[in-house]
Amino acid sequence: MAALLIRNADAVVTADDEDSILRNADILIRDGVIAEIGRNISADTEKTIDAHGCWIYPGLINTHHHLYQTFTRNLPMVQKMELFPWLVTLYEIWRGLDDEAIYYSSLTGMGELIKYGCTTVMDHHYVFPRERENNFIGMQFDAAKALGLRFCASRGSMSRGKKDGGLPPDDLVQDVDTILDDCVQLVKKYHDPSPLSFRQVVLAPCSPFSVTDALLKETAVLARKLKVRMHTHLCETKDEERYCLEKVNMRPLAYMESCGWLGEDVWYAHGIHFNDEELALLAKTKTGVAHCPVSNMKLSSGVCRVSEMLELGVPLGLAVDGSASNDCSNLLAEIRAAYLLHRLSRSEKAPTGYDFLKMATRGSAALLGRNDIGCLAVGKAADMFALDIELLELAGALLDPMNMLGTLGYSRPAEWVMAGGKIIAEKGVLAGIDEPEVRNKANVCVKDLLQKAGV
Ligand SMILES: [Zn+2]
Repeated sequence: MAALLIRNADAVVTADDEDSILRNADILIRDGVIAEIGRNISADTEKTIDAHGCWIYPGLINTHHHLYQTFTRNLPMVQKMELFPWLVTLYEIWRGLDDEAIYYSSLTGMGELIKYGCTTVMDHHYVFPRERENNFIGMQFDAAKALGLRFCASRGSMSRGKKDGGLPPDDLVQDVDTILDDCVQLVKKYHDPSPLSFRQVVLAPCSPFSVTDALLKETAVLARKLKVRMHTHLCETKDEERYCLEKVNMRPLAYMESCGWLGEDVWYAHGIHFNDEELALLAKTKTGVAHCPVSNMKLSSGVCRVSEMLELGVPLGLAVDGSASNDCSNLLAEIRAAYLLHRLSRSEKAPTGYDFLKMATRGSAALLGRNDIGCLAVGKAADMFALDIELLELAGALLDPMNMLGTLGYSRPAEWVMAGGKIIAEKGVLAGIDEPEVRNKANVCVKDLLQKAGV
């Protein structure tokens, strides 16, 4: 790939080890990697980008999503529900998912994420209707490739249906052998562990109330054998806590510990209802948490104890969660929502806007087990986004590039977004797909999906 020079950015917020912020800076990129960063870089490159009037940030990294839910957003009948009834209602629609719905919902959700600065997306896909063959994870990798972003898929799973005391309908759960066989195949086919990888796979049973003990235990053994990471929902609601106490007579984290689910290779989505001892255990074992503030507010789930987690050293990343409980896929907006939520609940102990930016970059990278992304420094991937700051609505607000995404937010798409040295979106337009065509196909898919469920 040819070299590229980004010239004269008003500010570069690096999120590097020194929390450096560079003024009037250049960034030289070779083969998708940052080769040099600083002032007045002279290099002979075929291409230059003038970044005067822009602030540049590391590409955001989303650590928990359900992209298929992009097609069940803004549905009137679930807007007043909490997680359990919300899930039970939506399973009835999700059972109609097919390859096309997965492909176009992935393009839709990923596309929105990219426009607002996201360059790496992790998805937790766990709905595999028994009645039809599918290539869901393959479809998701195709969508990510078309858009040019780094994608971390998960082979999610559900094995405890209604008849076994679980929450999902019986036709949406699979047996343990089918699930584990598919995990092995998908890791073999798609997982690339090398630095600067665009394709990774993790193993991700859905939640304590939709999987069996056997699946949790065997997944942990298999993931460690295959050297891939493990992810699930945990401590999202009080209903889940009651469910665990009732069914296995343990609190959720104790139950997961009994199944082998603690360690640096594990991260949980949400992590709201941990007690003090459990937070200490997470910190000690370096088990991570993906914080999903908008979804937690939307479903009235509670407030994650982010300040305490940061103090204790619990690995933390940021995520939008599935877009049926958000109902957007905008990680840039999530930074501001997180900042405000914790200002409200923790006052002077609340993290800063910059703390949340770091959570959405370096913190998220660490949850995915990566140190090649998440900050702007020599040798790191050229994943970044630029914001146009020469706007009337930002006049008088330009003192602090590090905290701005929390304090003010940024309510329009990034000026440009780059992954691996390639521009993947510019002024809100995706480079890899024909947006009007995809939008039309997506809307047809949604109609079809809702019709199948009689909605
Ligand atoms: Zn989720």
